[in-house]
Amino acid sequence: SDVPGIELNNGTTIPQLGFGVFQIDPSDTAETVREALDTGYRHIDTAQMYGNEAEVGEAVAKSDIPRDQLWITTKCNNSNHGYEDSQTALDESLRAMGLDYVDLYLIHWPLPGKDLYVDTWKGLEQAKADGKTRTIGVSNFQPHHLDRLLEETETVPAINQIELHPHMQQAGLRSYHERHGIRTEAWSPIGQGKGLLDAPEFADIAQAHGKSTAQVVLRWHIQLGNIIFPKSVTPERIRENFAIFDFELSDDEMNTINNMEKAERLGPDPDEFA
Ligand code: NAD
Repeated sequence: SDVPGIELNNGTTIPQLGFGVFQIDPSDTAETVREALDTGYRHIDTAQMYGNEAEVGEAVAKSDIPRDQLWITTKCNNSNHGYEDSQTALDESLRAMGLDYVDLYLIHWPLPGKDLYVDTWKGLEQAKADGKTRTIGVSNFQPHHLDRLLEETETVPAINQIELHPHMQQAGLRSYHERHGIRTEAWSPIGQGKGLLDAPEFADIAQAHGKSTAQVVLRWHIQLGNIIFPKSVTPERIRENFAIFDFELSDDEMNTINNMEKAERLGPDPDEFA
């Protein structure tokens, strides 16, 4: 496929473009993931919280793609923080998906009010040592949460998965990640398809390349080096979101989008989400 691989700080290589399944109804998930796999996606982003891990596993089991050619990410649910509970939660996710291991296991939210994310991280380190996940990372961590993992534990996260799109560009976290060898995954990469895609800045760029606005935004992420997994249940859009490797944005076009920052969150502030 044309999807670039990104090498992580533990030596594994993740496909830069994947498929996200947040808010896909369990009854639609197996069919939608099959559509994504048929299109060429080899990276699926799910979570225990999404309630559709079993159906992701069903689609994987039914496909004839060898397990080692797939990248499967899941996440430790907020109710399962702690050294033991995070490991038990991964066991549950593996059982639900019918897998022996995942490629990436993330702490879904830091939950600073609970103050258990350091112990939870140590649970993920143990799960990796036990071969239940090839790679470990975090999601929605702010620099001061990452600081504590770097100071108090042995492993630098390979990934931080954060809200990131042209209206919320996360310059501070991206430079922190770069300094520490952490790769950035961008959730809601097209701003959940609402408002953002109607911004007038995209119209000329899309027309110049004969591409859709969504493809322009996804291409901007690829050129920044972000790892992305846009979600759709519509077969045409699943294919559209995959067709972003046959054009390139110019420096001027990248700069136009870089100037769209509004610090506008669609999701919760990680420091207030306890
Ligand atoms: P997204 O930015 O991928 O937007 C998806 C929505 O955009 C779709 O529901 C659809 O309405 C629309 N859309 C999709 N393709 C389109 C196209 N080509 N043209 C026009 N509209 C289109 O938002 P998302 O689903 O929130 O984020 C993607 C993935 O990120 C999720 O599925 C999940 O895997 C992950 N995620 C993680 C967290 C976290 O806390 N770690 C939070 C949210 C999402």
